Amino acid sequence: MKVSEIFVSVQGEGPSIGKPAIFLRLSHCNLNCLWCDTKYAWYCGSEKSVDDVVGDILKLLGVYSKVNLLVVTGGEPLLQRNELELLVKALKKVKELEVEVETNCTVDPGNLVDIVDRLIVSPKLEHSGVPKELRQCAESFRNSLGKYRGKIYLKFVVETAEDLLEIDEIVNFFGAEPSSVYLMPQASSLEELARKLRLVTDLAIQRGFRVSDRLQIVGGFR
Ligand code: SF4
Repeated sequence: MKVSEIFVSVQGEGPSIGKPAIFLRLSHCNLNCLWCDTKYAWYCGSEKSVDDVVGDILKLLGVYSKVNLLVVTGGEPLLQRNELELLVKALKKVKELEVEVETNCTVDPGNLVDIVDRLIVSPKLEHSGVPKELRQCAESFRNSLGKYRGKIYLKFVVETAEDLLEIDEIVNFFGAEPSSVYLMPQASSLEELARKLRLVTDLAIQRGFRVSDRLQIVGGFR
């Protein structure tokens, strides 16, 4: 599998915000969002065996023994779904570990939903600059949500109030409960984050959604 980086930090956004975690960032993405903050993961990384990646993660968990969350992110991690399934199974066999996988919603999650603890689904909107036909949610996700309620969360990057039209459409497609939907500002600086957080909060209140901060921007960490 192609790995961009493995590191320890704190989950900066979404339902696990604030939790210390090991991050496994997988290489490759099938989209090219204008504001992507991990473009380096599209191409850069090292080919490693699943066993070697399991070993790297266990080594880090040996050092940071109180950490019990693995966040798998990208890029688009589901592009390497088969290897990811093997990795999660191998890790869970030897360690009590929560596993959270982040995805852009365009790739079938298959059986991965059965073995992870949370799937954070982040469909991309028009402001991503990606043509609609490329960023459309995979139909298989709709079936997963009903079956795995409480395990799948939607997370939207918001630029303007107009985004709510698209968000409503996707939330309806999923039949998602408002409490499983997170809105978070599109921002690359602290100033931009603070400015848009007010807008995002107003929109979330209208719909009963949740608001997510972006701690990695506030704290300047990965
Ligand atoms: S889907 Fe995620 S990783 Fe891929 S280009 Fe968009 S923001 Fe970047």
